Amino acid sequence: MPAPTHKKAYRGRFAPSPSGPLHFGSLLAATASYLQARQQQGEWWLRIEDIDPPREVKGASQQIINTLALYGFKWDNLSYQSQRLALYQHYLEKLQQSHLAYPCGCSRKEIIQFNQQQSKPAGLYPGTCRQGLNGKPARAIRIKLTEPRQTLHDAIQGTQTNDLSQISGDFIIKRADGLFSYQLAVAVDDSTQEMTQIVRGYDLHESSFCQHYLQKSLGLHSPDYAHIPVAVAPDGIKLSKQSAAQDIATESPRQILWLALDVLGQQPPVNLKKQNLKQLWQWGFTNWNLNKVPQIQSVLSPL
Ligand code: GLU
Repeated sequence: MPAPTHKKAYRGRFAPSPSGPLHFGSLLAATASYLQARQQQGEWWLRIEDIDPPREVKGASQQIINTLALYGFKWDNLSYQSQRLALYQHYLEKLQQSHLAYPCGCSRKEIIQFNQQQSKPAGLYPGTCRQGLNGKPARAIRIKLTEPRQTLHDAIQGTQTNDLSQISGDFIIKRADGLFSYQLAVAVDDSTQEMTQIVRGYDLHESSFCQHYLQKSLGLHSPDYAHIPVAVAPDGIKLSKQSAAQDIATESPRQILWLALDVLGQQPPVNLKKQNLKQLWQWGFTNWNLNKVPQIQSVLSPL
């Protein structure tokens, strides 16, 4: 163990949901977060985000872990969100006790209809149940946004300000089906697992504002952020496990990792393609430079 210093040691993570096998977009997030951590002699944790059984694909957690191992990733800790539910409940109750959360009885259909009439974005919560349920049975639990304007510094995309009341409104922290929301679980985990920086795709950029907001409301520490461009298909749609994006090949990790480094703007030398996986990672540890990652929101997937 390194001797403790005053500066907090770097800790990063990769947090896949087991909703399918790894695709090129997830590999970009894994590679960037891994190299960023390793280059700073930091730790890199793997967290399986398995708190959404309806979206989980059987066997996907192990498949993701196996693929990462085959690609040569080495993690310092492995955790499963499904084993941390008591912690999410604890922080949910904390928000409720501070009157920063409230029950909501609106159905998705009602919210969409309301927003259509008002020409507002479909998913924006209009705050209907803030003043009470009005006789409706409670379904979900929502955070009460009291200071929705948030500014976050992003090490790749720069400083950005967002108004959550225009993006999500009071967002869900516990769903109508009784499951904890992604936002609450990730906010709690990133803070209690003492992450110092989150490197992930730009598709989660708005989520960062929600998670930062929850951490602030809970008096928890917030990590720094760096959002890499998200990999998209030629039609501009983001690759995702649910849209059955192509599983990354397991027979050619070197070539695919080389492509990931290339897409991440690292300009890997062509001869690196012929070298072994260990040499490729070694090159990455030495040469990784976050400043070279393109400051764009999406990038065409080469696969
Ligand atoms: N679990 C999310 C996913 O697989 C990513 C979460 C994160 O990096 O915060 O899309």
